[in-house]
Amino acid sequence: AVQSRVAAVTGANKGIGLAIVRQLALQYPSSPFKSGPFLIYLTARSPERGAEAVNTLNNDAQLKQAKVLAQDGGDTTVKYHALDISDHKSIHAFRDFLKEEHPDGIDFAINNAGVALDGFDSTVVKTTLATNYYGTLEASNAFLPLIRNGGRLVNVSSTAGRLNKYSDEIRNAFLSASKTSIPAVTALMQRFQTAVDEGREQKAGFPSAAYATSKAGETAYTKALAMEETKRDRGVLVNACCPGYVDTDMTKGRGRKTPDQGAMTPVMLALHDIGGKTGEFWMSEQITEW
Ligand code: NDP
Repeated sequence: AVQSRVAAVTGANKGIGLAIVRQLALQYPSSPFKSGPFLIYLTARSPERGAEAVNTLNNDAQLKQAKVLAQDGGDTTVKYHALDISDHKSIHAFRDFLKEEHPDGIDFAINNAGVALDGFDSTVVKTTLATNYYGTLEASNAFLPLIRNGGRLVNVSSTAGRLNKYSDEIRNAFLSASKTSIPAVTALMQRFQTAVDEGREQKAGFPSAAYATSKAGETAYTKALAMEETKRDRGVLVNACCPGYVDTDMTKGRGRKTPDQGAMTPVMLALHDIGGKTGEFWMSEQITEW
């Protein structure tokens, strides 16, 4: 029987997330995963923005020309589904929907949703961690059991999360936690929050930077999660990446790459042959130092 493939992308109503959906559709025909129809869930926290994004793709000139969408005779269908990764109920509702709709599982989950807030204080750190760390982690934990043997989980982290801004002690704690367990990584995030709450994060070995530290946590837990997943021996590959410096609302017009260029590494980690690599941090379609 022809198996159909299923993907889910978070924060996909604009920016890199929307481009990831677009590139998944464009690259699926040349992917080793190609096998029958392809259903992509474009998820977003706003139904209006999500529906508008699906509409944009259905009328996209390049997708039309490539005839990749089912409406034009291709394999791919893009559907909106609600998902706010900072809301437990929303994550559980999407997970239960996928279970029900796709009892044989899904193939790819791409955690792209993220925030970068201005300023630095306790509240900014709390809000940033709630989405970029705890939200992405909870979404990963919801998606991973649904991913079929041989499938992929991709986390869009950032080189902002590189370990070059910490004391030796904290840097080593990140490295060690990423090889130990997710709770060990979460404990480091809590240590950061507490230090910020007490106004002593620099003394504690952290930078005064919410986004960077949240992304260090995201890369760290992705490695811990990949290690756990490897023990299950299902051939599911779990990787983190940086899309590069991309022109989106987040970078306020300063990014150098287009969203489609930014989507290349995440889409490669989902759809293409990556030599069985798991638990790595990638940039410019290559494994790079965290
Ligand atoms: P944008 O701000 O353009 O898009 C962010 C997306 O995430 C939006 O769709 C937004 O939805 C969504 N989002 C935010 N919070 C939530 C939430 N709680 N639940 C669901 N969706 C949410 O940013 P980019 O496209 O630039 O960024 C995408 C990812 O790439 C992020 O993780 C970012 O950290 C990462 N990245 C980006 C870089 C860049 O140069 N642009 C560099 C390195 C990493 P809404 O429209 O509703 O706000």
